[in-house]
Amino acid sequence: MLRKREVELSELAESIANYYCPEGLVDPAVIAKKIDIPYSYGDYGDAFDGLIEQENGSFHIFINNRNNFADHPRSRFTFAHELGHYFIDEHRQALLKGKTPSHPSFTNFSSKNPVELEADHFAASLLLPESRVKNDCFKKRFNFKLISDLSSKYQTSVTATVLKLMTIDKHPIMLVCSESGRVKWFKYSHDFPFKWLKKPQGVVPRNTLAGAYFSSKEKFDDELPITANDWFENVWDRDISRQFFEKCIYSDRHNFVLSIIWEN
Ligand SMILES: [Zn+2]
Repeated sequence: MLRKREVELSELAESIANYYCPEGLVDPAVIAKKIDIPYSYGDYGDAFDGLIEQENGSFHIFINNRNNFADHPRSRFTFAHELGHYFIDEHRQALLKGKTPSHPSFTNFSSKNPVELEADHFAASLLLPESRVKNDCFKKRFNFKLISDLSSKYQTSVTATVLKLMTIDKHPIMLVCSESGRVKWFKYSHDFPFKWLKKPQGVVPRNTLAGAYFSSKEKFDDELPITANDWFENVWDRDISRQFFEKCIYSDRHNFVLSIIWEN
């Protein structure tokens, strides 16, 4: 997404958060009520995480909470994402014209569809309004504790929290999501110094914390120092000594690791 668009959507989401939920937690259900959009929670199987429907100019939002309760960070994010399809002008116009008759959305952050990426970015910015987050980060050292403090305060997943932090230039960050030894997707902030993961492409490098999990199921509770060379390709000699940290979040059930990487 272009930086200009990112800023535009972030400002839109923040103005909505400040207008409807000026104090405390941003609650997508409160916003939906205030703008008269009915919504339903239900078990919709694997069909979607969230859906917004439009008929004769009226909207309805569906949230799949088969695995979660309504206040779960995942349900909150899905709800905020669907609100994005309503509040972002181009998305609402497309819905009104019937261009997107049913719009199943998945909250897995891996969509390549630009419309979905915009709604994801809107959702992260709605739940984590930029100036509130900036205030919380003020003069704080960047580490995993900051991320987990923010995600409990704002009731957002670590992934959503990091995605928001990536756009506020607090600190250069990279996120790598891998499964069964393969990189599923990665994202980095505009100011992250390296853009290419180590070759062979798509394989989690062995000398990383994620690599240790896939080769020997070893897990680390803490963030640990790594060098640029461990994760990245084309690292100049002068950059070899730059120290980075990696913190992993594991899911044994899915043989899945989320790596958060930042420079010391
Ligand atoms: Zn969507």
